[in-house]
Amino acid sequence: MTITSHLMDCTLNGRCACGSIRYSIAMPAREILHCHCTICRRIHGAVFASFASVPRDAVDITAGREFLTEFASSRDVRRYFCRTCGSHLLIEDDRTPQFTWYSVGTLDGGHPGHSESVERHVFLESRVSWFRFSDPQVCASQVLADQPPSRAKG
Ligand SMILES: [Zn+2]
Ligand SMILES: [Zn+2]
Repeated sequence: MTITSHLMDCTLNGRCACGSIRYSIAMPAREILHCHCTICRRIHGAVFASFASVPRDAVDITAGREFLTEFASSRDVRRYFCRTCGSHLLIEDDRTPQFTWYSVGTLDGGHPGHSESVERHVFLESRVSWFRFSDPQVCASQVLADQPPSRAKG
């Protein structure tokens, strides 16, 4: 793909833990999700996983494409990880074919370029109960979760 010079200015670089796979991102993130779902927790081995979405053609695998391995974590979602070190780098969701999600924790550094208003926690109902989150969004939902189960949940 051709990257125009003004986009080169905000190019971000990332890689897997062993360095076999390297990628660059040519656009600011349009959204950041911190996902607390059980699939992300297990796959990333972390209490939540953080992803940035960008147009699919803004992602360029610059090295090690042959190491990129696919795992279909559900019918619509494919996750791409390094077959050597296991770092999860990319997610594609057939329901949003114009976008790719990348794991922001694998960036070499720098700001993903999103505005604070598009950063949010999702699947909070699946989050671990013992971790003390300081993000106001999580704290607000913690208060709700600590209340007796609602009858609506059945
Ligand atoms: Zn690797
Ligand atoms: Zn998830």
